[in-house]
Amino acid sequence: MTNEALFTRHSLVEGENRSPSARKSFTPESLIMSSTLITNALIVPMTERGSFNGYLRIENGAIAAVDSGTPPEVLPDEQVIDAAGAVLLPGLVNAHTHLYQVLLRAVWEDLELMPWLRRIYGCARVLRPEHFYAGSLLGCVEALRSGVTIICEHNFLNPSSDCAFETIRAIENSGVRGVFARTIMDRGEIVPDCTKEKPEQAFRQIENLLSQHQNRHRLRFMTGPNTPPINTTPELLRELRRFADDHSLGISAHVAESKSVVQVVQNQHGNNGVVEFLAQFDIPAANSIFAHCVHVSEKEIGILRETGTSVSHNPVSNMMLGDGIAPIVEMLRQGVNVGLGTDGAASNHSQDLFETMKAASLLQKVHHQDAGVIDPFSVLRMATAGGAKALGLESVCGTVEVGKRADLILIDVDTVHNQPVNDIFSQLVHCAKASDVQTVMVNGEILMRDRQLQRIDERQILTDAKLAHRDLMERVSQLSF
Ligand SMILES: [Zn+2]
Repeated sequence: MTNEALFTRHSLVEGENRSPSARKSFTPESLIMSSTLITNALIVPMTERGSFNGYLRIENGAIAAVDSGTPPEVLPDEQVIDAAGAVLLPGLVNAHTHLYQVLLRAVWEDLELMPWLRRIYGCARVLRPEHFYAGSLLGCVEALRSGVTIICEHNFLNPSSDCAFETIRAIENSGVRGVFARTIMDRGEIVPDCTKEKPEQAFRQIENLLSQHQNRHRLRFMTGPNTPPINTTPELLRELRRFADDHSLGISAHVAESKSVVQVVQNQHGNNGVVEFLAQFDIPAANSIFAHCVHVSEKEIGILRETGTSVSHNPVSNMMLGDGIAPIVEMLRQGVNVGLGTDGAASNHSQDLFETMKAASLLQKVHHQDAGVIDPFSVLRMATAGGAKALGLESVCGTVEVGKRADLILIDVDTVHNQPVNDIFSQLVHCAKASDVQTVMVNGEILMRDRQLQRIDERQILTDAKLAHRDLMERVSQLSF
């Protein structure tokens, strides 16, 4: 697929000829071209196990038509993208990450969860809002370049209120669809005082965030405890459920990530597992997403199913920290909704969801010593529709269907490592690479075209991130853990 073939254009996108510096500015939703037609694509809608060659029309940011064959007409002033040689897929959903941590890739290596967390939390003493902005924007760029259109940012370090604002500003400037989960820590020997909050104080901060980000099309909010019970009191959990309900917020939490967390819940609270512990406070719920769930019992998987709680599976992070293997096959068999996440780059080293899909597939196969225990469609579904449902966005995106927002990606499969195509689901999970993603759009706005970012200046973001990294490392070097 040549660049020219991919973008046969009948007219210019609004603002296409803007200067490089002007590209840094926001594109208002009203300026997004009203109609785009994608032709000759291999469409993988993820509504069922199937694919077809066809076309898709986007009008005002939503999918207006999708069908097999060729379109009956090209509308006046319609932008046409010839996607011959490409797969059209719903944008991938990163259901759990911490974007700023790209500044901390490969800093604290070969550590298990608790000593690693001591450093991650301790870093709050020197993290500044500008680190969150520069790191989060670089993280968004990495995500977009690997086909991610929706990011759930699980925010947990707030030494100042501006840290959350700057992270959100980065997400919004990148154009990606964001779910910002502003979580709370109110206890913990390894949690620095500067980022510990009294519940009431944290709730006021969250209400301030909500009031200052009203009517944002691409932004949703959640709340939650960070890693119960090691950094949250039972009182906080009780009040969090009430606060979340009062504000119609979902809950995001790290749950049963390592055996050490389960030991704390057993020793300090007398519960067998973290999910059982959280159930006392009604934290498991249909609008809750639990990251990890590595060490959960059969009974706890039952609680997840009965309450409709979703799980974010983060296999690369779990392997990197030596946490263990989440019982994903058992969850899927019981009907628990599962999405995929990278987790932060401090425990994954990347934001690449293609890598995560392959790891998720292979890890279950080797764990069960059964090559057929999980199929690639199920893995791809976790990375798309499963993630969208986990974040309460199943009516908005996650599949290619008329009426949903146009959060879509085009993946070039006319490449050496992708050809010949036999089983498209297996090949998207096991052969395709992040670098095969050619085009990324959110809400119909093309954010990356022919691997060139359209809204933001990638070189400038890299430069800024390097400066922020140097400053952060100087500050970190003054710390003792
Ligand atoms: Zn995490």
